[in-house]
Amino acid sequence: MALKFNCVNCNDIVITKLSIGDEYKCKNCLNVRIVPMGAETIDESELDLQQKEDLKREEQFAQTEDEKNQTLSKKYSVLKFVKPLFAFLGVTYTFGLMSLIGHLSELPGAGFNIIALCFISYSGLIFFMYCIVSMIDFLFELDKHNSEKKN
Ligand SMILES: [Zn+2]
Repeated sequence: MALKFNCVNCNDIVITKLSIGDEYKCKNCLNVRIVPMGAETIDESELDLQQKEDLKREEQFAQTEDEKNQTLSKKYSVLKFVKPLFAFLGVTYTFGLMSLIGHLSELPGAGFNIIALCFISYSGLIFFMYCIVSMIDFLFELDKHNSEKKN
């Protein structure tokens, strides 16, 4: 279903998918006005090709505007799972390493080297996860600032 009315400003015929009370932009006079109460509901099958084309373009435009307005936080909301996942991994690694060291210390010879290697990898991994979490926090914070400024 679409709405058909005469432009409030120039009287040209306007066809739109907007609702009464929404702002429309007239493609004849380029003014932005409110869709009037008297707008008539018409079926899309009654439209000619050009009008159908115009409607499609209007819809596509509305979609890109929506995408633009979507904040990055919403777009990348999957990143919110990174923190709990890393917390889980961190705890698992810590316990895993502790039990591993218990076993390794009983090994003769190479035991110490392996323990040292485990510690280095462990510290590196924890630091890496910490950096990723900080970066994500920073980006979300930045996006929050930006969207607050916009509104
Ligand atoms: Zn107009």
